[in-house]
Amino acid sequence: MHDFHYEGKDLWCEEVPIRDLVAQVGTPLYIYSHRTLKNHFRVFNDAFSRVPHITCFAAKSNSNIAILRIFIREGGGVDIVSGGELYRAMKARVDPQKVVYSGVGKRIDEIEYALASNILMFNVESFQELEVINTCAARMNRKAGIALRVNPDVDPQTHPYISTGLKENKFGINVEKSLETYLLASKLKNLDIKGISCHIGSQLTKISPFIDALDRLKKLFGHLKAAGLKIRYLDLGGGLGITYDEESPPHPSEYADAIIGASRDLSCTFILEPGRVIVGNAGILVTKVLYTKANEDKNFIIVDAGMNDLLRPSLYKSYHHVQPVQKTKRKEIIADVVGPICESGDYLARERRLQRFERDDLMAVMSAGAYGFTMASNYNSRPRAAEVLVMGDKFHIIRKREEYGELIRGEKIPDMIKRKQ
Ligand SMILES: *Cc1c(COP(=O)(O)O)cnc(C)c1O
Repeated sequence: MHDFHYEGKDLWCEEVPIRDLVAQVGTPLYIYSHRTLKNHFRVFNDAFSRVPHITCFAAKSNSNIAILRIFIREGGGVDIVSGGELYRAMKARVDPQKVVYSGVGKRIDEIEYALASNILMFNVESFQELEVINTCAARMNRKAGIALRVNPDVDPQTHPYISTGLKENKFGINVEKSLETYLLASKLKNLDIKGISCHIGSQLTKISPFIDALDRLKKLFGHLKAAGLKIRYLDLGGGLGITYDEESPPHPSEYADAIIGASRDLSCTFILEPGRVIVGNAGILVTKVLYTKANEDKNFIIVDAGMNDLLRPSLYKSYHHVQPVQKTKRKEIIADVVGPICESGDYLARERRLQRFERDDLMAVMSAGAYGFTMASNYNSRPRAAEVLVMGDKFHIIRKREEYGELIRGEKIPDMIKRKQ
């Protein structure tokens, strides 16, 4: 469920007509519904209320500090994958004891920053990383909380680019080798072994891969207990899918019930790292039609948002529903919706049956709240879009539109070539 709906012909977000919003803020524009964000977080978090748990929102799906703040106020933590995301989470006033740090390539300065911030734990992906974290912690006179990210080798049955829990993926430590790595870790004095973690992929629409992964983690949990290691956290990662088109992913409560049911005999705190399922359908990208044209066998709608604003279609061939901000009675055509960027791969939607759009019409690209703005770039020197949070009948700009000056921030022409020849 989300709070984007038509009132008559006009698309609204909560109690705000999108046309009015665009008149004030312009396009391209990301719009998020506060009510939807809060509800999605609550539904997910409440589904685990029977067991000790921390819902650590995956910042990489949407890292605006206002968005992070909403979940932190609801009692959530944050799953980070970089020093930059830690900085954002701290700016949103997260409890550092609810921060988990994932990712295969943590730099020393990032590790030090996380140790200084007193985060809950690092999800460690290699033996070398364990040694580096141990050395940093020793130098800082601290103990680093860690979990090993194990690779359970299960097929999440999703897009190959977003599957992460197969043997051939770069992520984690092979589950068979992990016991050995845990034992080595237990000899490193500045590590506090707290948990086991995994994350098998994204946009999963079935429960069974999660349960297969959990079964392998449970086995490991048993071995670790027998070896005298006290595992207090089981981090099951994120990955629950959403409806972009016709998918019917499990409801968070089904997901939670299956996980809780399959782990009744474990006493530990669960960590969940949902991203997409919380924010995906809580945001849209609004764009304006610049031109329309047709060649012999194709209609093109050229809009002012491109792959630099929303990369998912170009990168993953992802489907995003597109719809008019104002419905008309014009007849339908089959068209491609394309951006202004100088790449053939720059499109938002292909071969869609849509009402005929005309210059200056507004179009909403739905389900753009996750991996939308966070993947935006300045390619073609395009300033990044503004972001707006709607709350009831009010809206707040939570990131202003970039200006040209910001495009060259930090750039400098060396004196040598400054002068005219
Ligand atoms: C990307 C990622 C997530 C979030 O995935 P979603 O599919 O958005 O829920 C969680 N944990 C880790 C380690 C990730 O890399």
